[in-house]
Amino acid sequence: MKAMILKGISPIEREPLELMDLPLPTPGPKEILVKVSVCGVCHTELDEIEGRLPPTLPIVLGHEIVGRVEGLGSGVARFALGDRIGIAWINSACGKCQFCLEGNENLCREFKGTGYHANGGYAEYTVISEDFAYPIPDRFSDSEAAPLLCAGAIGYRDLRLSGIKRGQTLGLFGFGASAHIVVQVAKYWGCEMFVFTRSEEHRNLAKKLGAVWAGSPEDEPPKKLNCAIDFTPVGETVPNALRVLEKGGRLLVAVIRKRNLIPPLDYAQLLWDEKEIKSVANITRKDAQEFLSLAAEIPIIPEVQEFRLEEANKVLLLLKQGKIQGAGVLRMPD
Ligand SMILES: [Zn+2]
Ligand SMILES: [Zn+2]
Repeated sequence: MKAMILKGISPIEREPLELMDLPLPTPGPKEILVKVSVCGVCHTELDEIEGRLPPTLPIVLGHEIVGRVEGLGSGVARFALGDRIGIAWINSACGKCQFCLEGNENLCREFKGTGYHANGGYAEYTVISEDFAYPIPDRFSDSEAAPLLCAGAIGYRDLRLSGIKRGQTLGLFGFGASAHIVVQVAKYWGCEMFVFTRSEEHRNLAKKLGAVWAGSPEDEPPKKLNCAIDFTPVGETVPNALRVLEKGGRLLVAVIRKRNLIPPLDYAQLLWDEKEIKSVANITRKDAQEFLSLAAEIPIIPEVQEFRLEEANKVLLLLKQGKIQGAGVLRMPD
C-alpha cells in the first residue's frame, strides 16, 4: 500500500514526509482492516513532525480517518465488511485504570494516539480495534466526515469543558479547522460568538458562519466574554484572552502544544476575579460518538479543501502558514 511516512523530526519546510510502499497491515483479534478513503490534516501533525510532540518513529501520521471495512480479525462483532467507519485520535486506552473507569480515558496513562503511537491514515490502509471505530452518519460525504473526527470532536469537548451556557458570550481565538466547526455548534446552542484572528479571510468566514464580531487578537470586543477558547499555537494569546474575559470566566486552551512560552501573567489584571484557565487533552470515544450524532442533527457541514495523499507536505506547510480555509483533507488514490 502507498503511505506517506515520517522517519525523523524536521521542519515541515524540508518536506519530511516520504511516499513509500508498505506491506498491508493484518488485523489482529478484534481489529478491523480499513481501506482509507480520506484522512483529514490536523495541526497536531505539525507538532509531531517538528518535534513538539515527538511520535514513535517511523510513523504513518493522520487521525481523521474515514474508510470502509475490508478485513476482519477474529472475534469482530460490531462491524461487517463494507461498513463505513471513522477513526479518531484515541487509538486505545487500558480500560482498567481509575481514569478509564471514571470516563476519563483521554487521561489514561496507557493512552495511545492514532498516527502518534500507532500508524494512522496517511495511507491506503490501516487497522484499528473495532471498539475504537465509529459508524459515520449517512448525511456526510467521506471528506465532510473526516474533520468531524478531530477538529469537530475535540471542538465539542472544548465547548463542553469551557462550561459555556445558552445565550452566553464565547470568544474564539484562532479560526482554523476546529473553530470553524465550534462556531456552528455554539450558534446552534444560542451563544454569541466573537472571533479573534489576524487573517481577514478567516474573519470573513467566521462572520459567514455566525460570529457577531470578528477582529484581531489584541482588539477589544464589544462585550466581555463568559468563556474563551484558544486554538492558537502561540503563548501570547493567553494574556490577550484573559484580558477580555468576564469576571468568573474560563479560558480553555485547546491546543496540544504551544510553539512558545506563555508570557508572565499579571495576577491582579488578568487572573483575579475568579477567572480560570483550563487545558484540554485528547478525546474520549464518547466525545467522538456524541459529536457525530450532534453534527448530523444540526447539521454541520465542514468547509473542506481536498488534496492528494502525495501532497501531504504541501498541505501541512499551508496549514502552518494559516492558508487553509476550513479543513484540509487528503484523498487516497483509487
Ligand atoms: Zn487532530
Ligand atoms: Zn486507562
